[in-house]
Amino acid sequence: MITGKNYIGNLLSAKGNKTFTTFNPELNSKNTAVFTEATSAEIDEAVKLASEAFKKFNKITGSKKAAFLNTIADEILALDDLLIQIYCSETGLPEGRAKGERGRTIGQLRNFANLVAEGSWVEATIDTEDLTRASQPKPDIRKYNFPLGPVVVFGASNFPLAYSTAGGDTASALAAGCPVIVKSHPMHAGTGELVASAIKKAAEKTKMPNGVFSNLNSSGIEVGQKLVLNAGVKAVGFTGSIKGGRALYDLAANREEPIPVFAEMGSINPVILLPNALINRAKNIANIYAGSITLGTGQFCTNPGLILGIKSEGLTTFINTLSKEIVKINPSVMLHSNIKKGYVKNKEKVVSQEGVTVSANYSEYVQTNYAQQAVVTVDGKYFLENATLHLEVFGPFSMIVECENKKQLEKIITNLEGQLTGTIIADNNELENHANIVNALQNRVGRIIFNGVPTGVEVCESMVHGGPYPASTDSRFTAVGIGSIKRWVRPFSYQDWPNNLLPNELKNENPLGILRTINGEKSRAKIN
Ligand code: NAP
Repeated sequence: MITGKNYIGNLLSAKGNKTFTTFNPELNSKNTAVFTEATSAEIDEAVKLASEAFKKFNKITGSKKAAFLNTIADEILALDDLLIQIYCSETGLPEGRAKGERGRTIGQLRNFANLVAEGSWVEATIDTEDLTRASQPKPDIRKYNFPLGPVVVFGASNFPLAYSTAGGDTASALAAGCPVIVKSHPMHAGTGELVASAIKKAAEKTKMPNGVFSNLNSSGIEVGQKLVLNAGVKAVGFTGSIKGGRALYDLAANREEPIPVFAEMGSINPVILLPNALINRAKNIANIYAGSITLGTGQFCTNPGLILGIKSEGLTTFINTLSKEIVKINPSVMLHSNIKKGYVKNKEKVVSQEGVTVSANYSEYVQTNYAQQAVVTVDGKYFLENATLHLEVFGPFSMIVECENKKQLEKIITNLEGQLTGTIIADNNELENHANIVNALQNRVGRIIFNGVPTGVEVCESMVHGGPYPASTDSRFTAVGIGSIKRWVRPFSYQDWPNNLLPNELKNENPLGILRTINGEKSRAKIN
């Protein structure tokens, strides 16, 4: 049942008087549940509890953390149809997508459970003492990854499950040993509360310290700002707009104690069409891209918003086919009326720029909150000169840039802002002849794709979901896959510490049997 209250650790609380509702974009009407925004006192209480919980939680064994994460997954599944129903009513996304995203969320939680149960992720590194060293005796030094402390997670509008309450940021932070306070996304506060109730149940069942998790409601930016400024918070995870992510990053940097903000923000995911591929299969590529641009109403962070090619007959065929095919696709609803307004506004802004031609625009009637897909074209020289053309249009939209030659194409790629992904569509041996293009792209993106589409992010260990700014605020980390745990830890060394007082990961006996680096060699051995 949805209460509309905040979860302050294990307590339900609604002390404030600011309330709000979520919105059903399909019906274009407000949902009935009323949510109460967290007050300053409730925010402080959640952070205080998290700081207390951290003292115990950072020492909890990997197997206990694994049990907690697996129980969260079980409790989310137990929410069954109710969760799917609320998810759909708050986002307009179809049931299939809701179930798929739930599966991904469960999978992520279980992946992190396996990681911490095994234990080697702490990267234990031991350099034993050498009292006979000629210059001076060498001390015994042992390093491992230690959690940062309470983490604030901002739920994402476009992934109500997989990047929100129990999504990748929360799962990785809990796995690392950090208590989590979620700033629930106002567009899907009900979905958030249901998932929060599952986490609370799991925390109680597995006897986690009270405060290991809190979920705070908000209808504006103040709750998030207060959380980021609270001295007890030690790191932030965010997915959303560049404007929001950058504002939080600056806020955190200006604190007396600055803290890391891992923000995954806008991306237009350039796609490079090389000439031979266009000669041989322009129509086929165009068909595939009509689907990718409109997938999920274009509301994926990896949506292909920018397509680059060199002027040729093949590129013209591609543009014509894409324009013809994309308008055949039935428009779909956007997440919220505000997202739809943003889409229309940003699309109009781009279309009004010098040199931009609309090559496809779904012009038939659509229901309120449905998005009309569009494709525009522009010459390379206009694109190079006008930064407005480089901005993300969040929705089913893509811009095709017609470059004069290879040199201009390379210059455009070099001048792009940082991106999550870059895709190259090429035929055999074409990559070898375009090494400069590939190099330029590698400098601008976190993941490069060959002959595919950027949409559809595989959750696995080798995935990089991040990239140079502004795709993310720290390109050294990924927000997807088990490697994302590294955002929430710091390396910590013990020098000459008594063996019995060391954490199990670093003890001579290696009681956990984990893989460690001992005097430069990887081993699961004990130290005699
Ligand atoms: P958003 O505006 O960036 O908001 C994300 C979260 O951050 C919300 O909870 C929001 O709180 C909070 N927030 C925003 N600005 C803040 C600030 N200055 N200080 C503190 N908190 C702040 O993103 P959104 O609401 O999810 O969607 C809006 C737009 O973001 C979309 O139209 C799209 O352009 C972009 N977006 C991009 C991606 C992507 O992957 N590229 C994903 C999602 C969204 P409130 O909602 O309470 O204000």
